[in-house]
Amino acid sequence: MKKILLLATGGTIACKPTENGLSPMLSSDELLSYIPAARELCSIDTIQLMNIDSTNMHPDCWLQIAETIKDLYEQYDGFVIAHGTDTMAYTAAALSYLIQNSPKPIVLTGSQRPIGTDMTDAAINLYDSLRYACFDEGSGVVVVFGGKVIMGTRARKMNTKSYDAFSSINYPVVAMIHDRGIVQYIQPVPKDAIVSFYLNMDSHIFVLKLIPGVSADILKAAASFYDAFVLESYGVGGIPEGPKYDFHEAIEYLIQKDKTIVLTTQAIFEGSDISVYHSGHVAKKEFGVLEAYDMTLEATVTKLMWILGQTKNPKKIRAMFNQTIASDMLSQSF
Ligand code: ASP
Repeated sequence: MKKILLLATGGTIACKPTENGLSPMLSSDELLSYIPAARELCSIDTIQLMNIDSTNMHPDCWLQIAETIKDLYEQYDGFVIAHGTDTMAYTAAALSYLIQNSPKPIVLTGSQRPIGTDMTDAAINLYDSLRYACFDEGSGVVVVFGGKVIMGTRARKMNTKSYDAFSSINYPVVAMIHDRGIVQYIQPVPKDAIVSFYLNMDSHIFVLKLIPGVSADILKAAASFYDAFVLESYGVGGIPEGPKYDFHEAIEYLIQKDKTIVLTTQAIFEGSDISVYHSGHVAKKEFGVLEAYDMTLEATVTKLMWILGQTKNPKKIRAMFNQTIASDMLSQSF
């Protein structure tokens, strides 16, 4: 029988009603008591790492999760992390950078309704996650939700209420979980890979969502607090230019201060290509801003946190950012 470690962190799956709304209260062992069939599937140990609404998730918690898995990696065949759905995509992306090339599956799951309610997706999601954690071909950091297995770097919460909450963005799903079996299309990590752990992050990342009329003043004002700036632009990507906008001056200011600047897009699908229009082309050519291409915002932000936790050297940052990790971006060398 395979040995699986269940790490519980809270989220709706563990919630109970209180007079001030749902609050995570169930322990990891209580979660398991709702799926007795799991005991026939595998042997399960549990650890309650925290019990929080994932709105309160913090990069320190990601390091705690990664460190726990590192310490216990040799003792288990797979890991399941029960987590709130709201920031699950951030945690999944962060763990994809902190734990690279894991031949053992590291599965994040949660639910839209608490496990103790009559109508819930919780029991099936938790059970499916354990099934993928036991699956011989399973590997890598993935999200299991609504019958889909999604790369940790590609998950995005797309629906706030329905059970089909997560989608795989700009990348196929890894596998589908059916009642009679798992159909895997993509092997996230080869089974003979050697895992690497990283336990440093720099969380000083600022994200600015552009809207027509936005001023770049905030970027200069934030320069003393942040090491990297992500500009969520429009379409394939551009930086506002012309007499009403002050972005070029602000970008020059940030570059002089050795800040990393990444341009991404508010459009969820297909990614950036900032060389297409003058407004983006200039920013890339003159200022050398990086672009996120087809990466999710969650992956872009957590990749920067991971990179800046390893180096502050602009050349190395650029090289590491442009390198594909855990299928986070399609190779740009076409
Ligand atoms: N607010 C909850 C959380 O993210 C939502 C959920 O788990 O579905 O913890």
